[in-house]
Amino acid sequence: MDIVPNTNPKPFSRITVCLDMDGCPNRCRHCWLGHGPNGRLSEDELRFTAAQFRPFADRLVVDDWYREPDFSPDYRERWRLCQALSDLPRTHFELISVWRLVRDETYVEWLSSLGLRAAQLTLFGGEETTDLYTGRRHAYREILEAIDLLVENRIVPRIQVFVNRENIGELPQIAALIKEKRLEARCAAFGGEFSCFVHQGSCDGENEKLYPVRVTPAELERIPEPLAGYTLKHFHKESLMDVFGRTERELYRELLADRSTESYVDDSPVFFVDASFNVYPNRTCPAPFWRLGNLKADGAAKILENYVQNRSLAQSVRASLPVCELAKAQGDPDSLRLFSKGDYIDFLLNRYCRERG
Ligand code: SF4
Repeated sequence: MDIVPNTNPKPFSRITVCLDMDGCPNRCRHCWLGHGPNGRLSEDELRFTAAQFRPFADRLVVDDWYREPDFSPDYRERWRLCQALSDLPRTHFELISVWRLVRDETYVEWLSSLGLRAAQLTLFGGEETTDLYTGRRHAYREILEAIDLLVENRIVPRIQVFVNRENIGELPQIAALIKEKRLEARCAAFGGEFSCFVHQGSCDGENEKLYPVRVTPAELERIPEPLAGYTLKHFHKESLMDVFGRTERELYRELLADRSTESYVDDSPVFFVDASFNVYPNRTCPAPFWRLGNLKADGAAKILENYVQNRSLAQSVRASLPVCELAKAQGDPDSLRLFSKGDYIDFLLNRYCRERG
């Protein structure tokens, strides 16, 4: 099947393309995007990327990042350029750069001027653990400073907590910090509602290395109030098990009886383009076995054809191999680690492909 440009209608109703122009200042241990090198790409390279995909979609959306937003010193110009290259008006994600926030006093005002009302920050426990898990010294101090800057500018800090068996003992420190900083009252004072949630994250990219310490049902009892309460409210769930999913043992048994396959092709795909112009579907981590091609070497038509034909190794395996075979090959029938079903299938698929890639 050829993917033909400029047909009416075009092959895709919408394509979102995210170019990793500058990378990220952090090296988080839970990072599902992996720890690739930071690039320094030019605006012309962003224009080139947009021009490649434009003939194939009724509407194109362009982002200059998929790791840390606004990490570039030219973040304002980049924002304007992404707006100009996109066919849909954009709002700023509730993801921000803590690194920039504490180094550029105009950044928070700029975020405010865009109408940002909440921003997510990630804690892992106390200072030492948060620095270790963020992969950067002073990350914890900067996150605390960022929380205050956001509140002072009427932006609600939403605290995300990644938990595993290594850091669960430090969650009371996060609960104490929220209380000490009076975040509920300070947000309420400007009409905001403070929020926080604890979860284990997916199990791909760097986070896959934390599989050995992934939480089990026994650990959930150690999540302190009020973090448990905030989490249930955030996810609109009745119990922490509803948030954390099911045990690997249960999912493994269910999948053993499941002969389904799945095509990951969508009419409105999102593509990640790394600093070397390798292109990946935004399904799980941008690993080599998800690679669709190289934008400079192959061009968008070939990459989109590979996408719709499920030609990356991971897509091809998922579209042709019954999921029970993935479970048999990679699952642990005795494990009590907790997963959502989708994250568990991605975990099995990534492991299966890595062995064969
Ligand atoms: S999780 Fe986000 S902030 Fe952390 S290393 Fe990955 S992209 Fe950077």
